[in-house]
Amino acid sequence: DDRISKIASSIRVIPNFPKPGVMFQDITTLLLEPKLFRDTIDMFVERYKDKGVTVVAGIEARGFIFGPPIALDIGAKFVPMRKPKKLPGEVISEEYSLEYGTDKMEMHVGAVQPGDRVLVIDDLIATGGTLCAAIKLLERVEAEVVECACLIELPELKGRERLGDKPLFVLIEAA
Ligand code: IMP
Repeated sequence: DDRISKIASSIRVIPNFPKPGVMFQDITTLLLEPKLFRDTIDMFVERYKDKGVTVVAGIEARGFIFGPPIALDIGAKFVPMRKPKKLPGEVISEEYSLEYGTDKMEMHVGAVQPGDRVLVIDDLIATGGTLCAAIKLLERVEAEVVECACLIELPELKGRERLGDKPLFVLIEAA
């Protein structure tokens, strides 16, 4: 698919952000090219439009950029998975480990119902810890995680293995 190489070229890599040694994959430059942003959304929509997905769960913050247009196009609900203390209603939360320390992800109670078929979306999978926390939250409310989807995978970090038997779909593998 020749759309993929164009999308890949539009993603900017910023060395040493947010700290020395990290090559940060910056998707904001993709958003400056409406045709390529549209192509990106279309590629996910083509994959998920007939899979019975009832919820697109987007991970803060960049899952909030890609999730909603996909949800609208496939006719699914959009549910934000947020950093702590952002959601105003009753929440359930899941702690997960980072390179240094821990973080927490929260979801509104009642937003996802038992039996909902969920697509989890984020911009990038590194170690997979973030997506794992999202999967746990969704499974705690008895939803079915159909698949996780990201624009970019950093395969060296083996996040895919951490997801176990949960399928992961990505457009681009980065070094
Ligand atoms: P993981 O939990 O180690 O898989 O890290 C994935 C999370 O970190 C995602 O929410 C990403 O948005 C963020 N992240 C890590 N590295 C990058 C990057 O290079 N560009 C953009 N986001 C990143």
